[in-house]
Amino acid sequence: MLSKMRTLRTLLRPDETTPSIFAIDYSRLYQTGKRAILFDLDNTLGGRRPRRLDPKVERLLGEISGMGFKIGILTNRRIGTKDPVIFSLARKYPVVIRAGKPRRRGFREILDQLGVSPSEAVMVGDRRLTDVAGANRLGIYSIRIART
Ligand SMILES: [Mg+2]
Repeated sequence: MLSKMRTLRTLLRPDETTPSIFAIDYSRLYQTGKRAILFDLDNTLGGRRPRRLDPKVERLLGEISGMGFKIGILTNRRIGTKDPVIFSLARKYPVVIRAGKPRRRGFREILDQLGVSPSEAVMVGDRRLTDVAGANRLGIYSIRIART
């Protein structure tokens, strides 16, 4: 029982915590062999249910891909590609909606689309139970956005 609780705690613990996607040291991640960044949508790339992406966020994504990273979006939202945010993201990057995080399926789907292994990937998201736990159980490096 005790060791099970310890395992659960480990599963919910991110490898890194950061106040925003702008505070992440992407070049260090690249130096450590990471080649893909998977982003959650709500409260990560935007606020709660963003209607459109902030131009600063679009610029950051462009910079990250310019560094040599592949970018993927992984969201549990059930909305389709007609949603303006999803539509604009999906024109440039693979997007998996209804990802069912923390289940493995959505993570595997986006890794497949990007052609990278779990050890080459980084998951960035705000929720321990979905983003962090899902990434950790597959061995994907996890970064949690925790606004203070
Ligand atoms: Mg979120």
